Amino acid sequence: MKIAVLSGKGGTGKTTVATNLAYSLHRDGKKIQLLDTDAEEPNSHIFFDVNYTSEESVNILIPKINRNVCTHCGKCAQACEFSAISVSPKHIMVFEYLCHGCGVCSMVCPVNAISEEPKEIGKVRLGRTKEGISFGEGVLNVGEPSPVRVIRQLKKHIDQNAEVVVLDSPPGTSCPVVETLQDVDFAVLVTEPTPFGLHDLKLSVKAISDLNIPMGVVLNRYDGSYVKVEKYLKEENIPLMMKIPYDVDIARSYSNGKLFSEVKSEYVAKFNHLFQKIEAMSKC
Ligand code: SF4
Ligand code: SF4
Repeated sequence: MKIAVLSGKGGTGKTTVATNLAYSLHRDGKKIQLLDTDAEEPNSHIFFDVNYTSEESVNILIPKINRNVCTHCGKCAQACEFSAISVSPKHIMVFEYLCHGCGVCSMVCPVNAISEEPKEIGKVRLGRTKEGISFGEGVLNVGEPSPVRVIRQLKKHIDQNAEVVVLDSPPGTSCPVVETLQDVDFAVLVTEPTPFGLHDLKLSVKAISDLNIPMGVVLNRYDGSYVKVEKYLKEENIPLMMKIPYDVDIARSYSNGKLFSEVKSEYVAKFNHLFQKIEAMSKC
């Protein structure tokens, strides 16, 4: 089973839930893989002692212009969706950091002045945590515009023998999240009981509904003071699967880079209970 843990915005506790879920299921004896697809800011590794065993480059093909052949017709610049080529009567420039490596410019060039050369945009790292959890993360190079290729390459390493694969998704609802959600069995949405949390939760619910993936919500830092999130979930018939209270011990564990279910061991059972609910719902 592949479970994506995501949130409409950063800072809601998505990585906290993903890492503690993976750890708790491992403690229960399940064969687990944890993949951090938040390639712009991967931080699941902070909560584990990871022994990395392999690293591979993620490359895209970027255009290389043969200036002796180019006629400055401008067709490549017109075709580029990302404004990564600029053509003037005497010059042509490729802005590498805007290029997504889609290959359209070389296809439309009428005089074959464009060839393609590989450029590294990031890395995929694989290893195992001290506890024995199979671990992987995508890391996008600074300045690169899109982590989608990095996520795609990371997901090629999904362990088919793992009983549960937990994907710590990027925040938001854009292309990297959609790439993470491809082929997953269940989406766990993490939110917080605030107006901002509710606003971004609604965007995430819409994105997941469009992809037709079963989902449930974990309400983090719950203190009972803002009930509009619960009201919204009830109205939309979206299951509220777990509440994690506002708790200084949990916050302290997080800021020390520790899994709070290690410190508060009752959460191992609670996260396993969350998984039982996920299993039951994904079979419906
Ligand atoms: S490969 Fe795609 S994104 Fe890059 S310059 Fe060509 S058309 Fe633009
Ligand atoms: S399409 Fe080809 S010939 Fe035209 S400007 Fe681009 S590289 Fe030059």
